[in-house]
Amino acid sequence: LCAQNGEFDEEDINLIIEQKKQIVRKGGVLEFIKTEENIGDIGGLNNLKKWLKRKKKIFDNLQKARDFSVDIPKGVLLFGMPGCGKSLSAKVTANYFEMPLLRLDMGMIMGPYVGQSEENMRKAIKLAEAIAPSILWIDEIEKAFAGVINSGGGGGGAEVSARIFGTILTWMQEKKKPVFVIATANSITGMPPEFLRKGRFDEIFFVNFPKKEEAEDILRVHLKKRQKESWYKDMSPVIDRMQAKRFSGADIEAVVKEVVEMAFVDERTDIEADDFIKVLDSLKPLSETMKDEIAEMEKRAKQYGFNPAS
Ligand code: ADP
Repeated sequence: LCAQNGEFDEEDINLIIEQKKQIVRKGGVLEFIKTEENIGDIGGLNNLKKWLKRKKKIFDNLQKARDFSVDIPKGVLLFGMPGCGKSLSAKVTANYFEMPLLRLDMGMIMGPYVGQSEENMRKAIKLAEAIAPSILWIDEIEKAFAGVINSGGGGGGAEVSARIFGTILTWMQEKKKPVFVIATANSITGMPPEFLRKGRFDEIFFVNFPKKEEAEDILRVHLKKRQKESWYKDMSPVIDRMQAKRFSGADIEAVVKEVVEMAFVDERTDIEADDFIKVLDSLKPLSETMKDEIAEMEKRAKQYGFNPAS
């Protein structure tokens, strides 16, 4: 197709991207995600950002890295609290690495018929390889082992899950094509331990609720997005409160949204820290409703010694 007009030029890049999108769409198991998010859109998570920076250098100089016997990055598992930037990081990485982002919805892969799930998984892998270099984002990977839990650790569900994980593991071990895997998980309960062993993923990061300076950073990111940077003044009481209530990045974004709407409706320009406090006190963060799950996640992260993302 590119050669039809007799030459290869810049425009052909768009044509190639379009063709790749069509291949993915026809495949049906993956979703091509458009990303506009930049690394500056992530507040905090500095460890993860530093790590991504190193990997970018390898992907940017793939041949040189290979000649130097550098291992091509296989992938990363982001495990942790909901609403704290795991999906955001997957999107940012695609933009940062300048690679197409293919989202694999684990819920969709787990088809109801015997053998269907594995077949879907193989199809997804094949597609990701066909358009490599690419990023395969395995979203909510825990859904693959939902069957194990539902069936109490036995029965067909467990077998399917084991086979799916086996397929992913073997592929990750052997893959030659530059497909970078980003798996995100809100839970690792029931996940096969070999999946979490060092060497499967290049790194496993634990994403926890933002620390003080991270909450500040996230608040700034979302104010900036709405051109309201000037509202950032004397925010330490706001930050302290958010931290005490364990606000996630998504919760902080919700506060900013509310405050901006309130300022608009009330036609106010004199927004103060107190206004933020009022709004945040009226919100119930996710951490409050999921106390037990959160404690369990922190315990697991410690037990496995995952690298903190921040
Ligand atoms: P999850 O960890 O559940 O995948 P998401 O990445 O989907 O969470 O977060 C939902 C939204 O919350 C993001 O799109 C973003 O707007 C906001 N958010 C979460 N974490 C951060 C963060 N660290 N920095 C900036 N925004 C964040």
